[in-house]
Amino acid sequence: MRVLVVEDNLLLAHHLSERLGEANFQVKVATDGREGLHFALEEPHDLAIIDLGLPGMDGFELIRSLRQAGQTLPVLVLTARGNWEDKVEALQLGADDYVVKPFQFEELSARLNALLRRAAGFVQPRIQGGPVVLDLNRRQAFAADEPLPLTLYEYRILEYLMLHHRQAVTKERLLSVLYEDGEEREPNVVEVLVGRLRRKLEAAVGVKPIETVRGRGYLYTFLCR
Ligand code: CA
Repeated sequence: MRVLVVEDNLLLAHHLSERLGEANFQVKVATDGREGLHFALEEPHDLAIIDLGLPGMDGFELIRSLRQAGQTLPVLVLTARGNWEDKVEALQLGADDYVVKPFQFEELSARLNALLRRAAGFVQPRIQGGPVVLDLNRRQAFAADEPLPLTLYEYRILEYLMLHHRQAVTKERLLSVLYEDGEEREPNVVEVLVGRLRRKLEAAVGVKPIETVRGRGYLYTFLCR
């Protein structure tokens, strides 16, 4: 999952970037509002964390601009300000949730996971698609009730496909789920990982839930709920 962090406090931005990286997110950091808008419009993200007090374009204006541009990604607002008017305004402009600084990373992380889950149409942290169950909080897959031993990259692919089960996901999208910006990308790594995932799933449950859709990418064929 790709997260855009827009925060002008460099220390906090760095800390968030590290902790989110450890929590299995790919993170892009912008340090002012205009840069944040640019990054958000330039490439798709799954979620944005936006500080309200930003130089150049403040967080309110950024959220307004994102929504006007038709961006539907979940937005979580960071605010140091205690007054309720800011939170109300941010939510009215299209933010989905907020965290008041200073916050514990665990709270932020729990809120992010809940936002991502809801944005993908799921209400529970465990989702089931055919014989496969994902525990999104623990980031563990189960097949036929047994833990499925997946590598980090295999898990990321499976999670992304199951969260987007109603649509085919392109190889390019999956590549961007695997790699940070600037990291060298091995173009056929997605095929290799999908091949390994298919073999592991077939060995565990005897089915192949990942289908190749010619010219469009990969599709998780079971309905997930
Ligand atoms: Ca700030």
